[in-house]
Amino acid sequence: MGVADHILESTHREGEHLNALIAHIELIKGRSGGEYLISLDRSAAQSGHEKLLNDRYKLVDSTLTEQKLPDALQSIVCLCREYIGPEALIGVTTFNAETERLEYLVRPEGLSREACSAIDNALVVFGNGVHTTSSVLRKKTTTDFRDGDILAPRVMASALKAAGIKRWVSLPLLGINDQLLGTLDFFYKEAVVETPVSDKELAIPLHLASSTMERHLSINALRENARLEEFLRFFSQQLMTDPHRPDHSTFVAATNKLAAFMKVPSSSLRCWILDERDGNYRPVGTFRDQESSICSGLAGKDVRQWLSSEELLVHKSEFVASLEAEYQCLHLSTDHEFAHAIGISSNGSVNSNKRLIDQCLVFPLSADSTLEGFIVLGPQESRVVKKLNLLSTIAPILASAFARHRLIKSLMHQALYDRLTGLFNRHKIEEILHHEIDRSLRYQNPFSVMLFDIDHFKLVNDNYGHDMGDSMLLALSDLVRSTIRATDVIGRWGGEEFIVILTETPINKAVGVGNMVRRHVESYDFGIDTPLTISMGVAEFRPGDTAESLVKRSDVALYEAKNSGRNKVLPEVNQPPRA
Ligand code: GH3
Ligand code: MG
Ligand code: MG
Repeated sequence: MGVADHILESTHREGEHLNALIAHIELIKGRSGGEYLISLDRSAAQSGHEKLLNDRYKLVDSTLTEQKLPDALQSIVCLCREYIGPEALIGVTTFNAETERLEYLVRPEGLSREACSAIDNALVVFGNGVHTTSSVLRKKTTTDFRDGDILAPRVMASALKAAGIKRWVSLPLLGINDQLLGTLDFFYKEAVVETPVSDKELAIPLHLASSTMERHLSINALRENARLEEFLRFFSQQLMTDPHRPDHSTFVAATNKLAAFMKVPSSSLRCWILDERDGNYRPVGTFRDQESSICSGLAGKDVRQWLSSEELLVHKSEFVASLEAEYQCLHLSTDHEFAHAIGISSNGSVNSNKRLIDQCLVFPLSADSTLEGFIVLGPQESRVVKKLNLLSTIAPILASAFARHRLIKSLMHQALYDRLTGLFNRHKIEEILHHEIDRSLRYQNPFSVMLFDIDHFKLVNDNYGHDMGDSMLLALSDLVRSTIRATDVIGRWGGEEFIVILTETPINKAVGVGNMVRRHVESYDFGIDTPLTISMGVAEFRPGDTAESLVKRSDVALYEAKNSGRNKVLPEVNQPPRA
């Protein structure tokens, strides 16, 4: 007997064999590459049966081929009606794993708007509605609203009663691994409905609904994965290649993009970064690299202490703890000192039974055992596995980008600045000198240089120690820097020898500035018994000069100043430089 004969056989025996029939239709569909073979013998099949079958087949077909999940589920609702009759108002929910709520994708037609809103979007916990209860129990659950135990909160029950509902039957829709997908809900207005929904009758719509939902979930998961992969590639490429010269704005853009991808407000996802200038942590986006003044930040040692403390583990269920261990993040309660320090405060709803909304997650960003920064995922965004997953993938990428940024910055700094005094180093000063010579030649502007050296500094070291010598060099640098104009440039030329480029300044004025500097140094209290003095040589740029010849002339003048008693400023002698 062929498959078609089977169908005919089944048709004769009506509804009870419809399950088998549908199975056969599916079988044939599989074999014939998507074409349905409905070839019923007119003499054998009643036209009523044929129509019934045709209707059901069409519903099954539209469920299986429909691209949009709500429309596919709508067909399932119609199919249910075909099986159990028109009395029930039928709705379908899907389980939103992020919010842990049941959302009606197909609202029960004929149920009042108020009742619909009351049952929609319910958190899956026992007793929060018949649908959430059936979800928790993983089995069909029924409630009659005349009974005492109604399995629904009062507001929900009264909204349903007001809508004339007497009975609510909910069947959980479960996936292959028994995971909750949603529910199929039946609402009855009739007072007495004997056996409203039998499992056997609904086996086909139920399985069809589950597999349809699962199929849509899988498709979405595939899409989501592709999106994630694309984002990660883009994110790491941008972080690794964009800051050719490290620029803080790259990190601002990166964290904004991350927040947008995660669909959380940027205020909920904040990133802090180590500022090597003072070892403090500052929020990304609140300071610029070039800024000389440092705004206050979180002390590095405090942050490291908080992030390694056990305190951050309080108020945490075992489940959350294991989740966080897996994703290497820390739990932060909003009333913790650390949360206050980073500007996240409790919203006042804190009670002994802490809610998730009062908790943040902190992802430390470590590279080469340095805590380069940390990400804070704000309250309300905390416990979503997908987000944890993404952030724990992003964390090492960000950490190494931060580390690289810091390294490049520090190398660039070393290349330009003197480590002890923070002044430009000799290399940078030479570069500026070349630039100034070009400018002077082009615009015919005068400029001068002054070279000065501390008198008898060796004695200072001998008498007060090298450390004291160092701090005097630093104090002297600051003093001179504050004495000259902002447009003048000071650098450390060698050990205790400094150079100042005085822009737009002819020699006579430069000697005046030199003497002012000399007097300031002489009268400054460096914390030693005798005044510290300097000797200085000053030279003005002449056409034909190179940087070397110009400095050389000021050096000759300095030599003369030393030889003629020290603590004085001498202009260059008006003759060609000595070889
Ligand atoms: P003069 O008046 O002839 O310049 O005498 P001076 O002692 O300053 O000259 P000298 O060149 O003999 O000695 C320079 C001293 O400066 C020797 C060196 O120890 C000291 N010095 C150079 N760089 C540093 C530094 O970075 N820190 C400290 N503490 N001392 C330094
Ligand atoms: Mg000296
Ligand atoms: Mg010297």
